[in-house]
Amino acid sequence: MNKYAEVAVDVPVTKFDKVYDYKIPADMKDKLQIGMAVRVPFGKLKPSSFVLNIKETTKVQEDKIKTIDSFISEEKFFEKKDLHLYRWVSDYYCTLLINVIKAAVPTAVYRGNIKKKTVKKVYLKAPEDEIKMILNKLKNRAPSQYKVMKYFQEHPNTKLRVRDLVGNLEVYRGAVDSLVDKNFLDFETNVIRRIADRDFDSQLVEDLTPTPSQKKVLNKINKGFLDKKSVTYLLHGVTGSGKTEVYMQLIRNVLENKKGAILLVPEISLTPLMVKRFYSRFKGKIAVLHSALSSGERYDEWRRIKKGDAQIVIGARSAIFAPVKNLGLIIIDEEHENSYKQSTHPYYHAREVAKKRAEINNIDLVLGSATPSLESYYKAKTGVYQYLSLPVRIENKEMPPVKIINMTEELKKGNPSIFSMYLQNNLQKTLKNDEQAILFLNRRGYSNFVLCRSCGQVIKCDECDISMTYHQNRDKLICHYCGNTKDMPKYCPNCSSKYIKDFGIGTERIEKEVNKLFPEAVVSRMDYDTTTKKGAHRKILNKLENNEIDILVGTQMVAKGHDYPNISLVGVVTADTIINLPDFRSAERTFQLLTQVAGRTGRGKKVGNVVIQTYNPDHYSVLAAKEHDYQYFFKKEIRLRKALNYPPFIHLIKITTVHQNKNKAEKAARKLYNYLKDCKAKKIIGPSPAPIERIRGEYRVQILLKFAIIEERKKLLVDLKEGFLKKLSTNVKYNIDVDPISML
Ligand code: ADP
Ligand code: ZN
Ligand code: ZN
Repeated sequence: MNKYAEVAVDVPVTKFDKVYDYKIPADMKDKLQIGMAVRVPFGKLKPSSFVLNIKETTKVQEDKIKTIDSFISEEKFFEKKDLHLYRWVSDYYCTLLINVIKAAVPTAVYRGNIKKKTVKKVYLKAPEDEIKMILNKLKNRAPSQYKVMKYFQEHPNTKLRVRDLVGNLEVYRGAVDSLVDKNFLDFETNVIRRIADRDFDSQLVEDLTPTPSQKKVLNKINKGFLDKKSVTYLLHGVTGSGKTEVYMQLIRNVLENKKGAILLVPEISLTPLMVKRFYSRFKGKIAVLHSALSSGERYDEWRRIKKGDAQIVIGARSAIFAPVKNLGLIIIDEEHENSYKQSTHPYYHAREVAKKRAEINNIDLVLGSATPSLESYYKAKTGVYQYLSLPVRIENKEMPPVKIINMTEELKKGNPSIFSMYLQNNLQKTLKNDEQAILFLNRRGYSNFVLCRSCGQVIKCDECDISMTYHQNRDKLICHYCGNTKDMPKYCPNCSSKYIKDFGIGTERIEKEVNKLFPEAVVSRMDYDTTTKKGAHRKILNKLENNEIDILVGTQMVAKGHDYPNISLVGVVTADTIINLPDFRSAERTFQLLTQVAGRTGRGKKVGNVVIQTYNPDHYSVLAAKEHDYQYFFKKEIRLRKALNYPPFIHLIKITTVHQNKNKAEKAARKLYNYLKDCKAKKIIGPSPAPIERIRGEYRVQILLKFAIIEERKKLLVDLKEGFLKKLSTNVKYNIDVDPISML
C-alpha cells in the first residue's frame, strides 16, 4: 500500500518538467498525501518537491528508484482538483508545471520557515471572592504584585498582553510571573492574524436596497447559482452604476449557501476604500492576498482561507489560486485590466485561469467592467458569455461632460503652458468652490527624455535600448525598465555641445507647474515614485477623502475605482502617451484609461467636469471617451482587429529569445523559426528584434505567431514543450507568451 509517490521537483528547467517516481519510506507511509511538500534526492541536489499522486506500482526498476528524503511540511497545499487546474495552465501557457504550482502556493507558505504568530495574554485565575484576601497578604510584602492584583480586582474579566499590563502599571514583569506561579493568574496563548485589524472594527453596514437594474442582475445570476452548469457573465456597468454593491450582494448569497467566493481586483493597495466597504459588510470572513503583504501576513491569510476561517478572498492576480473551501463563485472586477496578466513566467492571465477553475468546479464567473476588454465584449456578443448591464449611474447621476482641447490650437493662440487656458480656468474655479481636482498623466518623472539639440542624440540607458527619464527630485536620469540611474550630463556625451535639454512632461513636472500656478493649493502626487513605502497609497487616498488635498496629480494609479464625492474636475494632461505606442492594443488602452479617469468625477452632488488635452482630438478612442460611448469604440476597433488579424479573431503567441550576446539570441530565434515554419499558423512574423531590443543588458529577438484556429495553437504548444524545448541545451532564454497583452 502507498508504496510510491509521483512528484514534481523544483528544478525549473524544461528537461526536468515531468513526473518522477519515488519510493515512500516506511515512516511516511501513513502521512503522505497528494499536495504535500517533500525533499527528494535529485542528482546531487535535494530540491523541494510536491506530491502529485500516490500509487501501488511503478515502472521504474527497483534498484533504480530513490526514496523520498523528508517532509518539508506535513500539510496539504493542494487537492487533486487543483492539480487538474495547474496542469491546464501548464499546457495552455506552455509553461513548467512546477512554476504553476509555485505561483499557486506562495513560497512563504510551503517553505515551512514561517510560524504562526501568537500573543500571550494574562488573566485572572483566582476566584473573585478570594481577591480581597490575596490583596491583604500582598499589601506590605509585594507592592508590585499588589498593584497587579488590584488591577484585576477592578477588571476581573479582562485578558491582556503581559507587555501592556506591565507597561500600564509600571511594575516588573517578575511580579506577573510570581502571581502565575501562585496560581492567582494564568497565561493564555492565541494565534493571531498579522494584518493590522484597523479595518475590521468599522461599523457593520447592511446591504443597500438594490435598484431595479441591480435587482435584475442579481436575480439572473442568483437564479443559476445552484445549477451544475458553469456560466460566465459579463457585467457591463458604467463607473458608479453600482457594480460593487452587486458583488457584495452576490457574495452574501454565496455565504448563505455555505460556500466561498473569490473577488479579484487589479491591485488591492489601490483600492483600500473598496476593501473597507467589504469589511464593513463581512468583517472577519474576509482574507486579502496581494503582493504588498509580508511573508508572515501571506502565510496567515492563506491558512485562514485553507482552514475555512475566511470564506471570502479579495486579492490580486495570484489569488485566483486561493484554496477556498467549497468555492461557489468567482468575480473579477475591472476585468479589462492588464495587471491580471502576469508578465513573467508563468505568463498566465487570471481571467482565463478563473474561467477554467469555474468550469472544473461547475460554478459561475462574473466579469465586471465599465470598459470591458474587446475579447470579453466580443464573447458576450457572440453568446459565449452572458451579457448583463447596469446602463446608468446610481440615482441616474449624469455622466460627466467631457471637453476635448486640441493642444495644437493652444500653441497657435500663444499659450506655451502644459495647461490649456480652459483647464487653468477650471482648476481656478474648482479651487474657488473648495472642490477637488485630479490631474492625470500616464508618465512619471519630470520629463520624458533628454536630447542634444546639436546632434540629436538621446541619452539612453546603458543596459536597455530605451531613453532615460529625468527625475528632478533626485536630480538623476532613471531608466524605467531596469532602474539604472545616471547624472544629468552638462555636455552631450556624443558631441560635447552644451545644448542638451530634457523634453516632454511627467507627473513631477505637472506637480511643479501646478504649484507655480496655484501656490495656495495643496497639491499631492501619486505615482510609482511616491508610493514605494508600504501604506503610502492609503495615506494619500485618506488625505484625499478628508479633503486635505486640493489637487491630486498622478499616473494611472489615480484612475482606479476611487469614489470621492468632492472631486469635480478631472484633467487629462495629455491623452497621447499611449495612442502612439506601437501596439495593437494602444487604442483600447487609451479609451479604457480615459473612461476610467473620467469616471472619477461627478459622483457627489455636483456634476463633474472632465478636460482631455490632446494632439489627436479626432482619434476614435478620444471621441468615444468623450461621448462615454463604448459601442462606438467597439465597432471601430473590432473592424480594425479583423482587418489586421488581431485578437479576438486571431490567437497569438509571442516568443522572445533572450541572451546577453546578440548573435546567440538571433541564432536561437532562427533555429526556433526553422522548427516553426511548417506549423499551422496563419502567419509567422519574424524573427526580428523586439521593439525594445535590449533590456537589462540582454538582447531580445521576437517571433509572433498568429493562429486562426485555437486547436492548432494548442497542438503546436504541446509539440513545442514536449519536443523542441525539452531537447534544448542552451543558456538562451525562450520566453513563450501565450495571448500576450503587450507587443513590446
Ligand atoms: P461601481 O462599482 O459601478 O463604480 P458602486 O457600487 O461603487 O459602483 O456604487 C456607486 C455609488 O452608489 C456608491 O457610493 C454606492 O454606495 C452607491 N450605491 C450603489 N448601489 C446603491 C443602491 N442600491 N442604493 C443606493 N446607493 C447605492
Ligand atoms: Zn550632441
Ligand atoms: Zn535600463
